[in-house]
Amino acid sequence: MQFVSTRGQAVPVGLSAALSAGLAADGGLYLPAQWPRFTPAAFADETRLPEIAQRLLAPLFADDPLRAALPDICAQALDIDAPLRALPTANTWMLELFHGPTAAFKDFAARFLAGCLLRIVAAGERRELQILVATSGDTGAAVGAAFAGQPGVRVWILYPDGRVSPRQAHQLGAFGDNVCALRVQGNFDDCQALVKRALNDAELTRRLRLSSANSISLGRLLPQMSYYVQASLGHWRAHGRALGFIVPSGNLGNALAALLARRIGLPIGAIVLASNANRTLTDFFAGADYTPRPGIATLANAMDVGAPSNFERLRALYASDAAVRAELTAEAVDDAQIRSAIGSSQTRYGTVVCPHTACAVVALERRRAAGDTGDYAVVATAHPAKFDTVLAPLIDEVPAPPPALAALLQQPSHAEALANDYSAFCERLYAGC
Ligand SMILES: *Cc1c(COP(=O)(O)O)cnc(C)c1O
Repeated sequence: MQFVSTRGQAVPVGLSAALSAGLAADGGLYLPAQWPRFTPAAFADETRLPEIAQRLLAPLFADDPLRAALPDICAQALDIDAPLRALPTANTWMLELFHGPTAAFKDFAARFLAGCLLRIVAAGERRELQILVATSGDTGAAVGAAFAGQPGVRVWILYPDGRVSPRQAHQLGAFGDNVCALRVQGNFDDCQALVKRALNDAELTRRLRLSSANSISLGRLLPQMSYYVQASLGHWRAHGRALGFIVPSGNLGNALAALLARRIGLPIGAIVLASNANRTLTDFFAGADYTPRPGIATLANAMDVGAPSNFERLRALYASDAAVRAELTAEAVDDAQIRSAIGSSQTRYGTVVCPHTACAVVALERRRAAGDTGDYAVVATAHPAKFDTVLAPLIDEVPAPPPALAALLQQPSHAEALANDYSAFCERLYAGC
């Protein structure tokens, strides 16, 4: 399989090259040149995530050197529960994606990407691979956890200082060793811009071997499709109906994976993007021109994105903006609504939700109020304990952190301040960790 740039100006490359590069040479994002097609029957009676992912991704890995390792990569990276739980209200489920080591859905993709990149590194040139990751809170931890202590790789995490939850900040600085945390004096989009510029910098990429692990990375998008395949297949087998998904969205990587799972043939109904007060996507889906803008800080901080990086991929998949708008709907949710959904979810659904998942709960309730009785899964993207300081005033008792998160919170933590300045960032990279 060849992978092509969304901008169409770069030479198509094979899977390993697309995974290592992060961005295509023309600044675009990689997508497969063709998509395989599947029916539910193609998955026979598979129910486990690693096997489903292996079957799903085999055509994309087919002629690549990584092909032989795909079963092991899936078995090691995707050994994380993704339960689809019925909620105590008609036709409504919750897809829990927070059972990985850093308690957010980013673990699935970060571990898969790490499995691929570490094998590519081991097989290739000896220079250390420097992985740049801009994070709005959860990606950095998932990538740090996936690469911590691994030889031949260094991870640079850039996060917006003061704009992640205290527990997220602690996690980001707690890996030590080959994982360096930089707290940037700026917002998430500034962090993302520094990373993108570095990856496009001919001088820097000649001197250092760079890659990225952001949601722009193909190696994150692909494995994220697998839990939508698993959940929709399970639902189809049990009920004979398509399942819709309401996806808390920022950079649009997770929701795009749901959309791709539907495009390749899985029985998936409506896909609803739940945004916070950052309205770039909701305005677009309401008919306005796509207008990236500065991100604003909200309680759902991992979605504080004003320039969603995967929008370029979404647009590349369709012939026109009208065609994009026909595929998805989007809802914006403000902080007051997030607070109120956190408070009411405990009584209404018997579950405590994180501020991101709360956006999806609000979007669900708007659909229900509008008379939509379809089958929906609210996608729960992080464990509520990561956001204890937001939740504590709103509910009786914040759930305890799951064991892996609790262990990280016991470790010492250190992050270095970095000005929002490209040359300062380059100097830091040249100087090493
Ligand atoms: C990253 C993140 C999101 C947004 O996901 P995208 O793929 O960037 O749209 C939502 N919720 C949580 C908890 C996250 O960490």
